[in-house]
Amino acid sequence: MSNEIRSVVIAGGGTAGWMTAAALARVLGPRLTITLVESSEIGIVGVGEATIPAIAGFNRMIKLDEDDFLRSTQGTFKLGIEFVNWWEMGHAYMHAFGPVGRDLAYVPFHHYWLKEQSRDASSLWDYSFNWLAAKQGKFARVERIADTPLAGLAWAFHFDASLYAAYLSRLSQGMGVRRIDAKIAGALQDPDGDVRALKLEDGRELAADFFIDCTGFRGVLIEQALKTGYEDWSKWLPCDRAFAVPTENVGPPAPYTRATALEAGWQWRIPLQHRTGNGHVFCSGHISDERAREQLLANVEGRPLADPRLIKFQTGRRKVLWNRNVVCMGLASGFLEPLESTSIHLIQVAIQRLILHFPHHGDCEERRREFNRAAISEYEYIRDFIILHYYANNRVSEPFWDACRTMNVPDSLRHKIELFRESAGIFCSADDLFQLTSWLQVLWGQGVRPRGTHPFVEAVAPQDRGGYLKDLRSLYAQATQKLPSQADFIARHCAATPPSRG
Ligand SMILES: Cc1cc2nc3c(=O)[nH]c(=O)nc-3n(C[C@H](O)[C@H](O)[C@H](O)COP(=O)(O)OP(=O)(O)OC[C@H]3O[C@@H](n4cnc5c(N)ncnc54)[C@H](O)[C@@H]3O)c2cc1C
Repeated sequence: MSNEIRSVVIAGGGTAGWMTAAALARVLGPRLTITLVESSEIGIVGVGEATIPAIAGFNRMIKLDEDDFLRSTQGTFKLGIEFVNWWEMGHAYMHAFGPVGRDLAYVPFHHYWLKEQSRDASSLWDYSFNWLAAKQGKFARVERIADTPLAGLAWAFHFDASLYAAYLSRLSQGMGVRRIDAKIAGALQDPDGDVRALKLEDGRELAADFFIDCTGFRGVLIEQALKTGYEDWSKWLPCDRAFAVPTENVGPPAPYTRATALEAGWQWRIPLQHRTGNGHVFCSGHISDERAREQLLANVEGRPLADPRLIKFQTGRRKVLWNRNVVCMGLASGFLEPLESTSIHLIQVAIQRLILHFPHHGDCEERRREFNRAAISEYEYIRDFIILHYYANNRVSEPFWDACRTMNVPDSLRHKIELFRESAGIFCSADDLFQLTSWLQVLWGQGVRPRGTHPFVEAVAPQDRGGYLKDLRSLYAQATQKLPSQADFIARHCAATPPSRG
């Protein structure tokens, strides 16, 4: 590419397509003509309803009003993910967002907590404001616990994926994005291989300087046209199918996602204002479709509102995510199962990265390299975190879980586990998505136990350590008591307006 980039075509209008359109229009709008092509005949995948707190950064970028967004998407608040039966049957823990306890004198909090375990058998989650609020169905936008140095709640959202795409579509078109409803038949390429135009099924050609492939699993540009290739991770993440089904709510929506491990996979529960999203992610090598469907229906709480829908996938990532003049986003870029709700996050960071490296003047070799390096490293980091949930299990004599427990995990993950076993050490870089408290909760929740703690904790006298823990517990418990229920908070601030799919 050597010419100025003035026009961008986004292929596909699911969550990825419309998030990209909204962000580009907001940030680069005056410099670019943006066109999005989607096919109402093909539709969108229509799942992907749970997020992580980093989405707040994206909302800020597109100047989205949080209450308006929640009203328009039947949204609820999410304080964490509860993992049921993952380590052992009957056991549950939460990956709660936000801090767990508060560090003291240079050493992370959990070392003090571990040291006190012999005298004070409190749970790690007694020090998580998010966990306490989640389990009591409470929520408010609390940035800080009053009169203390303690952080408040950290939240993400659950929302209806179809309504979210429609919401962003209205927002983007309001900012000048042109929408075309048509099927893409293929790509027209220059002799050097760059994509020159989309060929639409109705015969039209849609030329642009730069293309963003958001066509979902099809990867119409990145794979069908450019043959980029795919790195398969099914040896580590063998689940390859999901049944999804919405059900009626049976009570006020809980402010957290639940992931329950089953015979050969796991089931999600995502509570929205008007319904609950459910799905069973499973490994077809260990369970038949029919049995997986039965298990899903046997484990949902409310009345199903539709027939379960089967979605097939292959875990992994595209070999590169920016190839020639095409960047891919969303399912076109790869797939990591939704155990930690990271797919929408991956779209968001890819958009932010693209804006940062946008090739306004055409010349982009080094930016492309940097974009791919960062995107691949992010995918691999999240992959390791998800594998940990499967690998560190104690569900002995269950074939699927036995296979997971005995797999050969990536060295990067093995190192993290062994470091924690050896010294309770967890080290993350500043830009890693999951930080110390995320790893801590999942390592501990999955039964990984350290052999020791940092010797520095001895510098604090045992009675002071104990007193510190007791004070923290009581501050968190009192702060939780003062919160309203999530249902009351939603009724007051963001109760949904009737769904609109315009
Ligand atoms: C079972 C499951 C559960 C998930 N749960 C979560 C979750 O909880 N949290 C999370 O963050 N993510 C989740 N995800 C991922 C999430 O669904 C996706 O990241 C998100 O929906 C983005 O999808 P997309 O826009 O890339 O693709 P799609 O929604 O498939 O959109 C593709 C778009 O391309 C268009 N298109 C395709 N081919 C053509 C063509 N030839 N011509 C014209 N248009 C075309 C389609 O019409 C559509 O508009 C989940 C995914 C699955 C499979």
